[in-house]
Amino acid sequence: MKQIILLGASGSIGEQTLDVIRSHPELFELAAFSVRSRLASAYKILDEFKVRAICVKDEQDADEIRKKYPHLDIHIGDQGLLELAALPYGDTLVNALVGFVGLLPTLKAIECRKDIALANKETLIVGGKFVKAAVKEYGVSLKPIDSEHSAIFQCLQGNAHGSVEKLIITASGGSFRDRSRDQLQGVTVKEALSHPNWSMGAKITIDSATMMNKGFEVIEAHYLFDIDYDKIEVLLHRESIVHSLVQYCDHALMAQLGTADMRLPIQYALTHPARLPLMNSETLDLAKIGTLHFEKADFDRYPLLGLAYKAGRLEGNACAIMNAANEEAVALFLAGKITFLDIETYVFKAVESIEFIENATLEDIIRSDGAARAFVNEAVKGAV
Ligand code: NAD
Ligand code: MG
Repeated sequence: MKQIILLGASGSIGEQTLDVIRSHPELFELAAFSVRSRLASAYKILDEFKVRAICVKDEQDADEIRKKYPHLDIHIGDQGLLELAALPYGDTLVNALVGFVGLLPTLKAIECRKDIALANKETLIVGGKFVKAAVKEYGVSLKPIDSEHSAIFQCLQGNAHGSVEKLIITASGGSFRDRSRDQLQGVTVKEALSHPNWSMGAKITIDSATMMNKGFEVIEAHYLFDIDYDKIEVLLHRESIVHSLVQYCDHALMAQLGTADMRLPIQYALTHPARLPLMNSETLDLAKIGTLHFEKADFDRYPLLGLAYKAGRLEGNACAIMNAANEEAVALFLAGKITFLDIETYVFKAVESIEFIENATLEDIIRSDGAARAFVNEAVKGAV
């Protein structure tokens, strides 16, 4: 029986994780979860599962919950996320938070010897070095939920690490893949939020449209699979059927194919090496699909992809700056305060302007995150 602590239960990955837990009650138990703003979904979860602890946004939400569940162990805010990660029970943390806020709870759970199933890629973008070191020190497992990394993880099974020549991460191209850069002027938030293949949270959908997401996934792969940036390639594949590939030294290419259903990578991260039936899922009908397309990734069309390789190679605090600037810029775009193309501009400006620290400590990373957020907000104010 796996006792799961789920951070970000009301989000897209969170809800699909609940689906996986629900479909295998003999294997999984939801021990604790967090929500930020959706109390209605917290009530639904509490009514359905026998949960022992919860984390909510503030004191007011805690009081609300306490009225109906007086015996529940209730935690609050960022500190509450850390407390959930450190509960004396719960052997596995599923991190389905979005953004930098996921880093410290991941590190805390590792220190408390919990296995990690990671959707929150920002954890590895900003703190990959620290997370890897902690995983090694505390002897826990870190399994990917991101579909591309789950595909690679699946393709690596049974093959020696030393025989890997290259990882090939596929990319759908996001909402604006059929537009030139000139045609990106004046695109709306609504247009940016309509991803052709996947239904996901708002931030990752925008990151997919700028390809910041694919850049993040390159960095994520570097840390998850201990592989040089030179050996990680991005390949455009508009159908999102081939979820990613591994090229071996004998030039065998292993790929994992499937429909766009995140419950498969979530479930695999929780059951590996076992495979279980996936409830209410469709099999892939390749004859019906007929044709798959692949194209070279265009770094001029998607400059943030190139920046991610650069920041990833630089290490230090470079990725923390890039990530924080991107989080702020995406939030400003979603709030209608800057244009879609401004996202790139502010991320580049922040990386160029904020002091690079080569041997950044975790404290440096946290400070750089704050500095980049302040930089973007100041720059936006200055521009209007
Ligand atoms: P989402 O926006 O749907 O959900 C995010 C969750 O995090 C919500 O429960 C929200 O309440 C919580 N949250 C956000 N900020 C918080 C804060 N400051 N404090 C506490 N809780 C906070 O996002 P999502 O699409 O589910 O993505 C989650 C993570 O998984 C992201 O890192 C994303 O890149 C990654 N991911 C998502 C998908 C997908 O299909 N949705 C696929 C691959 C990877
Ligand atoms: Mg992905």
